[in-house]
Amino acid sequence: MRGETILLVEDEAAIREMVCMALERDGFVVWQAGDGGEANRLLADGLPDLILLDWMLPGASGLEIARQLRRDEVTRKVPIIMLTARSEEEDCVRGLDSGVDDYVTKPFSPRELIARIRALLRRASPVEADGTVDADGLVLDTHSHRVSAGGRALEMGPTEFRLLQFFMTHPERVYSRTQLLDMVWSRGSFVEERTVDVHIRRLRKALEEGGYDRMVQTVRGAGYRFSAQS
Ligand code: CA
Repeated sequence: MRGETILLVEDEAAIREMVCMALERDGFVVWQAGDGGEANRLLADGLPDLILLDWMLPGASGLEIARQLRRDEVTRKVPIIMLTARSEEEDCVRGLDSGVDDYVTKPFSPRELIARIRALLRRASPVEADGTVDADGLVLDTHSHRVSAGGRALEMGPTEFRLLQFFMTHPERVYSRTQLLDMVWSRGSFVEERTVDVHIRRLRKALEEGGYDRMVQTVRGAGYRFSAQS
Protein backbone atom coordinates (compact mmCIF):
# COMPACT_ATOMS: atom_id res chain seq x y z
CA MET A 1 0.00 0.00 0.00
CA ARG A 2 1.22 3.51 -0.78
CA GLY A 3 2.21 6.08 1.82
CA GLU A 4 -0.21 8.36 3.58
CA THR A 5 -1.34 11.57 1.92
CA ILE A 6 -0.60 14.92 3.55
CA LEU A 7 -2.28 18.17 2.52
CA LEU A 8 0.21 21.00 3.12
CA VAL A 9 -1.31 24.49 3.30
CA GLU A 10 1.50 27.05 3.44
CA ASP A 11 1.96 30.33 1.56
CA GLU A 12 5.76 30.61 1.92
CA ALA A 13 7.22 28.77 -1.04
CA ALA A 14 10.58 28.06 0.64
CA ILE A 15 8.98 26.37 3.64
CA ARG A 16 6.53 24.52 1.43
CA GLU A 17 9.34 23.11 -0.70
CA MET A 18 11.43 22.12 2.32
CA VAL A 19 8.53 20.34 4.03
CA CYS A 20 7.34 18.74 0.82
CA MET A 21 10.79 17.34 0.00
CA ALA A 22 11.25 15.92 3.49
CA LEU A 23 7.81 14.31 3.51
CA GLU A 24 8.19 12.79 0.05
CA ARG A 25 11.60 11.42 0.98
CA ASP A 26 9.88 9.74 3.91
CA GLY A 27 7.30 8.10 1.64
CA PHE A 28 4.39 10.49 2.05
CA VAL A 29 2.31 11.76 -0.86
CA VAL A 30 2.03 15.55 -0.59
CA TRP A 31 -0.69 17.84 -1.93
CA GLN A 32 0.33 21.51 -1.85
CA ALA A 33 -1.89 24.54 -1.38
CA GLY A 34 -0.94 28.20 -0.88
CA ASP A 35 -4.17 29.29 0.79
CA GLY A 36 -7.57 28.13 2.01
CA GLY A 37 -9.17 28.36 -1.43
CA GLU A 38 -6.61 26.06 -3.00
CA ALA A 39 -6.92 23.69 -0.04
CA ASN A 40 -10.69 23.50 -0.51
CA ARG A 41 -10.30 22.71 -4.21
CA LEU A 42 -7.96 19.81 -3.36
CA LEU A 43 -10.26 18.59 -0.58
CA ALA A 44 -13.17 18.46 -3.03
CA ASP A 45 -11.31 15.72 -4.93
CA GLY A 46 -10.55 13.52 -1.94
CA LEU A 47 -9.41 13.45 1.64
CA PRO A 48 -5.80 13.38 2.84
CA ASP A 49 -4.76 11.38 5.91
CA LEU A 50 -3.57 14.53 7.65
CA ILE A 51 -3.49 18.30 7.10
CA LEU A 52 -0.51 20.56 7.84
CA LEU A 53 -1.95 24.02 8.18
CA ASP A 54 0.00 27.26 8.39
CA TRP A 55 -1.38 29.77 10.90
CA MET A 56 -0.73 32.95 8.90
CA LEU A 57 -2.13 32.68 5.38
CA PRO A 58 -3.41 35.22 2.86
CA GLY A 59 -7.19 35.35 3.15
CA ALA A 60 -8.67 33.02 5.76
CA SER A 61 -6.25 32.24 8.61
CA GLY A 62 -5.23 28.70 9.48
CA LEU A 63 -7.44 28.87 12.55
CA GLU A 64 -10.49 29.89 10.49
CA ILE A 65 -9.78 27.07 8.03
CA ALA A 66 -9.44 24.58 10.90
CA ARG A 67 -12.82 25.63 12.31
CA GLN A 68 -14.43 25.29 8.91
CA LEU A 69 -12.89 21.80 8.43
CA ARG A 70 -14.24 20.70 11.80
CA ARG A 71 -17.75 21.92 11.00
CA ASP A 72 -17.83 20.02 7.70
CA GLU A 73 -19.12 16.46 8.09
CA VAL A 74 -16.73 15.18 5.40
CA THR A 75 -13.48 16.68 6.75
CA ARG A 76 -14.40 16.58 10.45
CA LYS A 77 -12.14 13.67 11.36
CA VAL A 78 -8.99 14.49 9.38
CA PRO A 79 -6.17 15.21 11.87
CA ILE A 80 -4.69 18.72 11.69
CA ILE A 81 -1.25 19.97 12.72
CA MET A 82 -0.88 23.75 12.83
CA LEU A 83 2.40 25.39 11.82
CA THR A 84 3.01 28.56 13.82
CA ALA A 85 5.61 31.23 14.46
CA ARG A 86 6.91 31.53 18.02
CA SER A 87 4.91 34.74 18.58
CA GLU A 88 1.66 32.96 17.67
CA GLU A 89 2.25 30.04 19.98
CA GLU A 90 0.05 31.26 22.81
CA ASP A 91 -2.89 31.87 20.48
CA CYS A 92 -2.33 28.48 18.95
CA VAL A 93 -2.70 26.69 22.24
CA ARG A 94 -6.18 28.19 22.20
CA GLY A 95 -6.45 26.90 18.65
CA LEU A 96 -6.22 23.38 20.04
CA ASP A 97 -9.71 23.94 21.43
CA SER A 98 -11.03 24.63 17.95
CA GLY A 99 -10.12 21.17 16.77
CA VAL A 100 -6.44 21.40 15.89
CA ASP A 101 -4.78 18.19 17.10
CA ASP A 102 -1.24 19.43 17.50
CA TYR A 103 1.02 22.32 16.57
CA VAL A 104 4.65 22.74 15.58
CA THR A 105 6.52 26.03 16.05
CA LYS A 106 8.70 27.50 13.28
CA PRO A 107 11.55 27.07 12.74
CA PHE A 108 11.25 23.30 12.99
CA SER A 109 13.39 20.48 11.70
CA PRO A 110 11.81 18.14 9.14
CA ARG A 111 12.63 15.23 11.46
CA GLU A 112 10.71 16.77 14.33
CA LEU A 113 7.75 17.50 12.07
CA ILE A 114 7.70 13.97 10.66
CA ALA A 115 7.87 12.48 14.17
CA ARG A 116 4.82 14.54 15.16
CA ILE A 117 2.98 13.53 11.98
CA ARG A 118 3.69 9.84 12.60
CA ALA A 119 2.57 10.10 16.23
CA LEU A 120 -0.69 11.78 15.24
CA LEU A 121 -1.36 9.29 12.43
CA ARG A 122 -0.83 6.44 14.91
CA ARG A 123 -3.26 8.02 17.37
CA ALA A 124 -5.82 8.56 14.61
CA SER A 125 -5.41 5.08 13.16
CA PRO A 126 -8.19 2.56 13.78
CA VAL A 127 -5.62 -0.27 13.86
CA GLU A 128 -5.24 -1.66 17.41
CA ALA A 129 -1.85 -2.39 18.96
CA ASP A 130 -2.28 -6.10 18.11
CA GLY A 131 -2.69 -5.26 14.42
CA THR A 132 -6.44 -5.79 14.18
CA VAL A 133 -9.15 -3.43 12.97
CA ASP A 134 -12.69 -3.96 14.22
CA ALA A 135 -15.81 -2.57 12.59
CA ASP A 136 -18.85 -3.67 14.51
CA GLY A 137 -17.71 -7.31 14.81
CA LEU A 138 -16.03 -7.51 11.41
CA VAL A 139 -12.38 -8.03 12.36
CA LEU A 140 -9.42 -7.76 10.00
CA ASP A 141 -6.00 -8.90 11.21
CA THR A 142 -3.29 -6.95 9.39
CA HIS A 143 -0.61 -9.37 10.68
CA SER A 144 -2.09 -12.76 9.84
CA HIS A 145 -4.18 -11.44 6.88
CA ARG A 146 -7.30 -13.08 8.27
CA VAL A 147 -10.80 -11.69 8.34
CA SER A 148 -13.57 -12.87 10.62
CA ALA A 149 -17.18 -11.95 11.25
CA GLY A 150 -18.52 -12.58 14.73
CA GLY A 151 -15.58 -14.97 15.32
CA ARG A 152 -16.16 -16.96 12.09
CA ALA A 153 -13.44 -16.85 9.43
CA LEU A 154 -14.31 -15.29 6.07
CA GLU A 155 -12.51 -16.42 2.92
CA MET A 156 -11.37 -13.88 0.34
CA GLY A 157 -8.69 -13.35 -2.29
CA PRO A 158 -5.58 -11.19 -1.76
CA THR A 159 -6.97 -8.24 -3.74
CA GLU A 160 -10.23 -8.30 -1.78
CA PHE A 161 -8.20 -8.41 1.43
CA ARG A 162 -6.13 -5.36 0.41
CA LEU A 163 -9.27 -3.54 -0.63
CA LEU A 164 -10.96 -4.32 2.70
CA GLN A 165 -7.86 -3.32 4.67
CA PHE A 166 -7.77 0.02 2.86
CA PHE A 167 -11.49 0.57 3.46
CA MET A 168 -11.37 -0.39 7.15
CA THR A 169 -8.40 1.89 7.83
CA HIS A 170 -10.04 4.77 5.90
CA PRO A 171 -13.68 4.52 6.96
CA GLU A 172 -16.46 7.03 6.33
CA ARG A 173 -14.81 8.57 3.26
CA VAL A 174 -15.73 8.33 -0.37
CA TYR A 175 -13.08 7.14 -2.82
CA SER A 176 -13.40 7.20 -6.60
CA ARG A 177 -12.41 4.16 -8.66
CA THR A 178 -9.26 5.98 -9.77
CA GLN A 179 -8.32 6.74 -6.18
CA LEU A 180 -8.88 3.12 -5.18
CA LEU A 181 -6.72 1.94 -8.07
CA ASP A 182 -4.00 4.31 -6.88
CA MET A 183 -4.19 3.26 -3.25
CA VAL A 184 -4.87 -0.47 -3.43
CA TRP A 185 -3.33 -1.70 -6.65
CA SER A 186 0.43 -1.51 -7.11
CA ARG A 187 1.75 1.40 -9.09
CA GLY A 188 2.31 0.63 -12.74
CA SER A 189 -0.06 -2.30 -12.88
CA PHE A 190 -2.40 -1.85 -15.81
CA VAL A 191 -5.89 -2.16 -14.47
CA GLU A 192 -9.08 -0.69 -15.82
CA GLU A 193 -11.56 1.13 -13.63
CA ARG A 194 -14.19 -1.55 -14.07
CA THR A 195 -11.76 -4.02 -12.45
CA VAL A 196 -12.46 -2.13 -9.22
CA ASP A 197 -16.16 -2.94 -9.58
CA VAL A 198 -15.35 -6.63 -10.11
CA HIS A 199 -13.33 -6.81 -6.88
CA ILE A 200 -15.91 -4.76 -4.97
CA ARG A 201 -18.49 -7.37 -6.03
CA ARG A 202 -16.25 -10.21 -4.86
CA LEU A 203 -15.55 -8.43 -1.59
CA ARG A 204 -19.26 -7.94 -0.92
CA LYS A 205 -19.87 -11.61 -1.69
CA ALA A 206 -17.16 -12.60 0.82
CA LEU A 207 -18.67 -10.32 3.47
CA GLU A 208 -22.24 -11.42 2.83
CA GLU A 209 -22.15 -14.37 5.21
CA GLY A 210 -21.79 -12.15 8.24
CA GLY A 211 -24.14 -9.52 6.84
CA TYR A 212 -21.27 -7.10 6.46
CA ASP A 213 -21.60 -6.47 2.73
CA ARG A 214 -23.80 -3.46 3.63
CA MET A 215 -20.66 -1.70 4.89
CA VAL A 216 -19.19 -1.50 1.38
CA GLN A 217 -21.42 1.22 0.01
CA THR A 218 -21.83 2.58 -3.50
CA VAL A 219 -21.96 6.35 -3.62
CA ARG A 220 -23.69 7.20 -6.86
CA GLY A 221 -21.58 9.26 -9.24
CA ALA A 222 -18.65 9.34 -6.80
CA GLY A 223 -17.34 5.88 -5.94
CA TYR A 224 -17.32 3.71 -2.85
CA ARG A 225 -17.28 4.19 0.89
CA PHE A 226 -16.78 1.85 3.84
CA SER A 227 -19.13 2.64 6.68
CA ALA A 228 -20.08 0.83 9.85
CA GLN A 229 -23.12 3.12 10.14
CA SER A 230 -26.03 1.94 8.05
CA1 CA B 1 2.46 31.96 6.39
